[in-house]
Amino acid sequence: MRLTTLGTGTAAPSRGRVQSGHLVSAGAVHLLMDCGSGITTRLADLGVAWQTITHLALTHFHADHVVDVPTLLYAWRYGQLPPRSEPLQIIGPQGTLRLLSAFAGVFGDGLLSLGFAISVQELLPGADVPLGDDVRLRSLKVPHTDESVAYSVERGGRRIVYTGDTGPSDELGRWAAGCDVLLAECSLPESMAIATHLTPAQCGALGAAARPDVLALTHFYPPVEAVDILGEVGAQFGGTVALATDGWTLDLEER
Ligand SMILES: [Zn+2]
Ligand SMILES: [Zn+2]
Repeated sequence: MRLTTLGTGTAAPSRGRVQSGHLVSAGAVHLLMDCGSGITTRLADLGVAWQTITHLALTHFHADHVVDVPTLLYAWRYGQLPPRSEPLQIIGPQGTLRLLSAFAGVFGDGLLSLGFAISVQELLPGADVPLGDDVRLRSLKVPHTDESVAYSVERGGRRIVYTGDTGPSDELGRWAAGCDVLLAECSLPESMAIATHLTPAQCGALGAAARPDVLALTHFYPPVEAVDILGEVGAQFGGTVALATDGWTLDLEER
């Protein structure tokens, strides 16, 4: 399995960080999780074979996680020759169909009939979805917006958990326990803490609960980058911590 953090930024413009989006490639599955502004550009910047993405999973509907979805759909139709013919599976929480219909309402109904089949699957919390080629996707409700979920991607004895946007959650720590990589949002410094995002210390507590091999942090609002993130996380969690950047990759050899 390979994780590539394509976009490690937020709603705030940030030099060097576009909005949220992360790619997990596992066997024949190429799963893009979230697709905020700049993700399609990053796919090109990084030389990622964006034409081969098989699945798109959304964690929630904030603009910094979804606004490049129409851009990517049009890219598959008008940005490659020949145009895409492979089906695409879009996965997300309840409300994903409504979001896509709203996009189609703005950009035209053709958005969802671009010559390749699009299937949309709205997940009930706790659903366990086979993506093909022995890859499983599971979700957990997290405290951010009503619909927000975290995702777990599993194959070959390996497991990557992505928190999406979340506030502190003991349940998330238990659910992520023992994963290989925990990609966690780290939005705000302690001085700006709110219930719906994580601070470095809260990321450290999450890491201490879940004990991943690697705790990778993402979704940095500029003020959090002014504090000693590694120091504050490290006070709670003694394991490996990585500050993800746009284009950071991690390969996990399957067991
Ligand atoms: Zn966000
Ligand atoms: Zn959000």
